[in-house]
Amino acid sequence: MKRKRKVNKKRIVILFLLLIIITLLIICYICTLFNSKNSSLKDIGYNNLEITEIEKLTKSEIDTIMNYEYNKNLIYIIDSENYNPNKLDLYLKYTEKYKDIDYLKIFELINHEDFNEDKIEDYVNILDKYDVNSVIKYINEYNNDFKLSDDLMALLNEKYFINDYLDRYLNYYKNHKDLTYSEIVKRVNAKLDYTFYEDSKESDLSKGMYTLVNKFYYLDKDYIPDDLVTVSGIYARDTAQIKRVAYDNFVKLADDARSKGLTLKVTTGYRSYNFQATLYNNYVKADGVKNADTYSARPGYSEHQLGYSLDLTNKNNVSFDEFANTPEYKWLKDNAYKYGFILRYPKGKEYITGYIFEAWHIRYVGIDIATYIYENDITYEEYYEYFLR
Ligand SMILES: [Zn+2]
Repeated sequence: MKRKRKVNKKRIVILFLLLIIITLLIICYICTLFNSKNSSLKDIGYNNLEITEIEKLTKSEIDTIMNYEYNKNLIYIIDSENYNPNKLDLYLKYTEKYKDIDYLKIFELINHEDFNEDKIEDYVNILDKYDVNSVIKYINEYNNDFKLSDDLMALLNEKYFINDYLDRYLNYYKNHKDLTYSEIVKRVNAKLDYTFYEDSKESDLSKGMYTLVNKFYYLDKDYIPDDLVTVSGIYARDTAQIKRVAYDNFVKLADDARSKGLTLKVTTGYRSYNFQATLYNNYVKADGVKNADTYSARPGYSEHQLGYSLDLTNKNNVSFDEFANTPEYKWLKDNAYKYGFILRYPKGKEYITGYIFEAWHIRYVGIDIATYIYENDITYEEYYEYFLR
C-alpha cells in the first residue's frame, strides 16, 4: 500500500513537470511569433509608436501591412473613423502607387460606394481637379462611351474650358464626336447645347458696360439705359442716341477714319423695346419667323436696347448689305478694337452669335476687351462666358 502511494506521487510530480514544460514551450513559441512580427514591422520602417497602433489590428491586417513598404500615412488611415479593414490592401496599394497624390483623396476615393478598381487610372488622372464625387461620377458615367481619360485630359487642357460645364461638354461630345475639343468648348460656352431663346435669362446688368445681350440674355421691356447722348449730325445719318462712353470713343474712331479719307456715319444707336418689337414684327410679317430671327432680334433680345451698339454706313449711304465691300469696313475690321469697339456679328461666327454677318454693327466693350477679342478671334459670347460670367 505504502509503495503504491509513493509511485502515484512520483507520477503526479512528473506529470506536473511535463505540464510546466509544455506551458513554457507554448509561451516561448508565442514570444518568438510576437518578436518576429515586431521586428518585421521595424524592418519595414515603422517606429515603436506606430507599431503599438498597428498591433491593435487583427493578424490578417498586420500580414497585409507587411506586404507593403513603409507607409507614412498608414496610422492616419487605420485611425480614421472611415477606415474599412476590408479595404486596407487597396489603401496601401494605391497610396503607395500614387505617392504624389493626396492620400486623403485616394482614401476617400476607395471608400466611395461606386469605386471601381478597374478604373483607378482614370480616376487618378483627374483627381487633382475635382472632388471625389465628381471624379467617380464622370468616370463611371462617361467611360463607356469613349476612352475618357484621354478625352477628358484633352478637354481639361482646352483654353476656355470651364469646370462647371464638364457635364455639358461631355453630353455635347456624345452627339458631336466629329468636332474638336476646342469646338466643343466654344459651342457649349456659347450655350449652343441649347437652341436659341430656350433657357433664356434676364441679362446681368450688374456687369455694366460689359452686359451681354443675345439670344439667351434679354433686357426687361422697361429697361432704358441712362447717360444716353445724341450723336452729332457730323457723325450720324439719322437721329441716334448712344451711351456717353461709347459716343466719346466713336468720335475718336470716326475722326481717325476721316483723316484717312473714310467716312463713318451712325444710322442706329439705342433702340427702345417697343421700337424693336415693331421692327421685329414687321420683319416676321414680311419674311416669316425663321428668316427674321437670322437678322433681327426679338424685342428685349436686341443689343441696341443696351445703348452700346451702333449700326454704320459711309458717305455714299450704302445699304447694310453693301457695307462689307466698302473701304470703311476694311479699315474698321482691323482698327475698331483700338477704340474699344468689336464687330459684334463677324463672318464665320453666325452659328455662335445667331445672326448673319453684320459688317455694319459694332459694340463698345472698352479697349482691353476689344483688343483681346480681336487678337484671339473670338465672339463676345465666348469672351463673356469665360471671363465675365
Ligand atoms: Zn445693329
